[in-house]
Amino acid sequence: MQEFDVIIVGAGPAGLRAADRLARAKLRVLCVDKKQEIGVPKRCAEGLGLGWFKRLGLKPDPKWAVQEIRGAALYAPSGKVVEMRFPETNGFVLERRVFEKELARQASENGALIKTKADAFEFERSGGRVNVKVREGSEVVEYSARLIFACDGVETLTARRLGVNTTMPLADYDSGYQYEMANIDFENSDLINIFFGLEIAPRGYLWIFPKGKHQANVGIGIGGTSEKTAKYYLDKFIESQPGLKKGSIIEVNCGCVPVGGFLDDMTADNLLIAGDAAHQVNPIHGGGIGLAMEGADIASGVAIRAFEENDFSHDFLKQYNDLWYEARGNKLKAVLKKRRMFENLQDKDFETLAANISGEDVMKLSAGDLVEAAKVVTKKLMKSPGLVKVMLKYLK
Ligand SMILES: Cc1cc2nc3c(=O)[nH]c(=O)nc-3n(C[C@H](O)[C@H](O)[C@H](O)COP(=O)(O)OP(=O)(O)OC[C@H]3O[C@@H](n4cnc5c(N)ncnc54)[C@H](O)[C@@H]3O)c2cc1C
Repeated sequence: MQEFDVIIVGAGPAGLRAADRLARAKLRVLCVDKKQEIGVPKRCAEGLGLGWFKRLGLKPDPKWAVQEIRGAALYAPSGKVVEMRFPETNGFVLERRVFEKELARQASENGALIKTKADAFEFERSGGRVNVKVREGSEVVEYSARLIFACDGVETLTARRLGVNTTMPLADYDSGYQYEMANIDFENSDLINIFFGLEIAPRGYLWIFPKGKHQANVGIGIGGTSEKTAKYYLDKFIESQPGLKKGSIIEVNCGCVPVGGFLDDMTADNLLIAGDAAHQVNPIHGGGIGLAMEGADIASGVAIRAFEENDFSHDFLKQYNDLWYEARGNKLKAVLKKRRMFENLQDKDFETLAANISGEDVMKLSAGDLVEAAKVVTKKLMKSPGLVKVMLKYLK
């Protein structure tokens, strides 16, 4: 039995960030991932807003921050577009395979031991520690640690195996399907392109996230209870766009996103949960890279204190819940309410919004300038009875 201070299950953004933070604090860290290559296959459109780079202290490196993004183009079902173009870069499309390997390299250089093709499948608490069985190829290897980090993504079993049920109803997961496509033509290779409409992406949206002028992640996320599959809607859309139809599919990605709510308690004795495993995802757009890393930072801070106090009890670890809700969770709860409203929008509502709101308005609203936002909304409302109806639906 090999002993560590912390065993992290999952080497995605959450697990690798935690591995780095904990190793820097001189803890003995093992991070295992069942995949045979870090970051592959990706389950992601790879978009990351500039704000996250600042918050997480990341410096965009052209090796993995491969496409600068200047804003977004939002398409109503009729094709009418609202374009938000910022004067400066406001995000990047990443090459996640390279990004995650870079995170792994850093964590490893700081002292964490990372293992791939290592599936953690059995957990048992014993004498204040947790014994973990890991399948490494055809061998089963046993490890033990004082603390387990469940960073094993949306399919997490680690938390459940240690007594925390993280499942939600099917309707609370979005179903995602994506092709990375080459040799395609599309507009706005410096913007993320988002398409709305009940026939395009029911209870969700379809995206083109550029990776160069003729290459992009073309994908879709739809409500988990839709009768037809995400792939059906994506194929139908591509078929309707000559610029996409002519291209090649160089990668297929699929996965689920836990968009329906958060865990009240992300801890138990000897256990902290972070990232998708803890549903730390933006409920409207499904983005989770930045949130996973931030969740891992907060959990790591609590873990470091747990070692200082030699206390790995649920009672001690549960401070992580308060810290995360204060930093992020409470804001995300407000976003979740907006999602519930967004889900009720009909195609004609998208058209009304696209006809009445300009990209500049959306930029003012998203910049959080409340006075300016109030002015914009009031002016537009007075001019358009259709918009009043949509706003009332939102307020309901
Ligand atoms: C289609 C799609 C598009 C998306 N697009 C974006 C986007 O553009 N921007 C954005 O910010 N977010 C996006 N997301 C969400 C984002 O990918 C996730 O929020 C993010 O990857 C969460 O990181 P994580 O570390 O929590 O989990 P993951 O990245 O899922 O990592 C979990 C890891 O745990 C491993 N694992 C699981 N079980 C075990 C086990 N028993 N033993 C060992 N290892 C295990 C898995 O192999 C995996 O590598 C998208 C998601 C989907 C599905």
